[in-house]
Amino acid sequence: MPTRSDTAARYDAVVVGGGHNGLVAAAYLARAGWSVLLLERLGTLGGAAVSSQVFPGVDVRVSAYSYLVSLLPYRIVADLALPLQLVDRAVASYTPVRRAGRDTGLLVEREEGPATAAAFRELTGSDAEFAGWQRFYGRLTTLAEDLAPTLTEPLATPAELAGRLRDPRLWHDLRERPLADVVGDHLTDDVVRGIALTDGLIGTAADLHAADGLAGRCFLYHLIGNGSGRWRVPVGGMGAVSGAMATAARAAGAELLTGATVTALETREDGGTVHWTDADGATHAADAGHVVAGCAPTVLDELLGSPPGLRPSGSQLKVNMVLRRLPALRSGADPSVVFAGTTHVDEAAGQLDAAHAQSRAGRLPDVIPFEVYCHSLTDPSIVGDTGLHTVTLCGLHTPAELFAADNAGTRDEAVRRVVAQLDAHLAEPLADCLALDADGRPCLQASSPLDVEVSLAMPGGHIFHGDLAWPVADDPALAGTWGVTAAHPRVVAASSGGTVRGGAVSGLGGFAAAQHLLGRR
Ligand SMILES: Cc1cc2nc3c(=O)[nH]c(=O)nc-3n(C[C@H](O)[C@H](O)[C@H](O)COP(=O)(O)OP(=O)(O)OC[C@H]3O[C@@H](n4cnc5c(N)ncnc54)[C@H](O)[C@@H]3O)c2cc1C
Repeated sequence: MPTRSDTAARYDAVVVGGGHNGLVAAAYLARAGWSVLLLERLGTLGGAAVSSQVFPGVDVRVSAYSYLVSLLPYRIVADLALPLQLVDRAVASYTPVRRAGRDTGLLVEREEGPATAAAFRELTGSDAEFAGWQRFYGRLTTLAEDLAPTLTEPLATPAELAGRLRDPRLWHDLRERPLADVVGDHLTDDVVRGIALTDGLIGTAADLHAADGLAGRCFLYHLIGNGSGRWRVPVGGMGAVSGAMATAARAAGAELLTGATVTALETREDGGTVHWTDADGATHAADAGHVVAGCAPTVLDELLGSPPGLRPSGSQLKVNMVLRRLPALRSGADPSVVFAGTTHVDEAAGQLDAAHAQSRAGRLPDVIPFEVYCHSLTDPSIVGDTGLHTVTLCGLHTPAELFAADNAGTRDEAVRRVVAQLDAHLAEPLADCLALDADGRPCLQASSPLDVEVSLAMPGGHIFHGDLAWPVADDPALAGTWGVTAAHPRVVAASSGGTVRGGAVSGLGGFAAAQHLLGRR
C-alpha cells in the first residue's frame, strides 16, 4: 500500500469516478462551498451516460449505453440548474405480432386514445384486456405519485412508507409476490403480459415466477420516475445530460480530471489519501476529508483492499446501429411511428420464460427477447443534416456467464439471432437499411455484458452495478439515513449500485451522498 504523500494537495472531498452520479455529488458539494477534486479513468466524463461518434466517418452522436431518462428528479435538475430538454415520445410502444398467419401489431400511444383501444381490441378480440391494462397502469401511476417524492428524502421505514401510500396492496404485492402473478391479476393475453413484464427484466436476469423481489424491484424503478414513470428522450443524447452535470460541477468550482485512474485509497480517522495514475503513467496523490465513491461498489472494495463483495452479473445485449432509412414493416405500420416508441420483439410472457430457462441452463436463448428504439425520430439534433437514424437494441436474458468461454463468438451469434428475429417482422432486411462507415462496414456495434465491463469498469457489465434495492429502509439501521454507507466513515458511496436508490440515470446516488455529507435532512 502506498504511503500518504506529505506534499499531496488536500480537498474537502475527492470523488472517485466521473459517471453522472459522481458529477452530481461533485456539483452539490462544490455549490455548498466544499473544495472538490473528481478523478475519472476514462478520457470523457459521464460513465454509462455518454454520447459518442461510434462509427468512423459517420457524423452521428450515439447515446452509446443508456439512452432514456425517467428517474432523474426534477428537484436535482432545478437545484443544479441543468439546462436539459427531456422530450416525451409520441408512442409508448409497438409490438409486432404474427397471429393466424397475419402480420399485425399492438400500438400503445403515449396518451392512450382510440387507436390504442382499437389495437388492443384487434389483437385480443375484446375490450377486456385494455380495461385491465388501464386499471393496472392507473394503480401504478398512483403508486408512482406516492413513491417518487420519497426518493429525495431520507429512507423511511417500511411501516412509515406503507402509511403514505394510497395503494399499499400493490406495494405489498410487488414486494412479496412473483411479478408474473401481479401482472397476471390484471392481464391475460400472452403478448400484453410480456410487454408489462419486460420492465422487470431490463438489466436484470430475474425469474418472473419467483417471490424473491428481484423482478419486482426492477419493475418498480421502471414505473415511478418523477411520479409518472415516463421515459423521456434527452435532446442532444445522453452526453447532454452528463455534460450539463459536469458544467454545473465546474461552474461551482470542482476540479474534474479525466484520464485519472484511481489505484488505491488509504483511510484515516480524519479522511483519506487517494492515489491515481494519469494518462502518461505518472502517479499522483491527494488528501481528502471525505472520499466519495462514484465507482461501482466492487471497484471500491478493490481500492480499499477489502474482501470483494458478491460479483454482479449483467444480463443485457446492447446493439447500436445507424440506419440510412427505417425499414418497412410486414404489418404495414408506419416505421416512423413504430420505432419512435419501444418496439418489443419476441417479448411475450411465454417467450420471456423460455429465454430465462435456457439462459439459466447456460445456453444463449434460441429466441432472444429484445426491444429497439430510434432516438433520432424524437430528437433529430443528434444526426444533424445527415438524414440518418440511430437505432438502439437491448436484449434480455443474455447474462455475462454465457459469453465467458467465447465472448466474440457468442456475441456474433446473439447478433445473428436478434437481426433474424427483427427481419421476421420487416418487409426488407435490416442489413439493407444499415448505413456504412468510412471503411465500408455496416454501422452495427454490439456489446455483451463483458464488453460493457471492459469499457466502463461496471463489474460483470451490470448496468446498475448490482441488483436494485427497494427504496425503503428494510435494514432498520438505514432508517432516517440517505442509504450511502460504505466500509469506512470517511468514505461515502454515491454510485448506482453503492446507494440504496441510486440505480439508472437518476443522479440519486450522487444526490444522496451529498445530502449525507452536508448533513441535510
Ligand atoms: C447498455 C446500458 C444501457 C442503459 N440504459 C439505460 C437507460 O436507457 N436509462 C437509464 O436510466 N439507465 C440506463 N442504464 C443504466 C445507467 O446508465 C447506469 O446505471 C448509470 O449511468 C450509472 O451511473 P453511475 O454514475 O452510478 O456509474 P457509472 O456510469 O458506472 O460511472 C462510474 C464511473 O467511475 C469510473 N471509474 C471506475 N473505476 C475507476 C477508477 N479506479 N478510477 C477512476 N474512475 C473510475 C468509470 O470509468 C465510470 O466513468 C444503462 C446502462 C448500460 C450499460
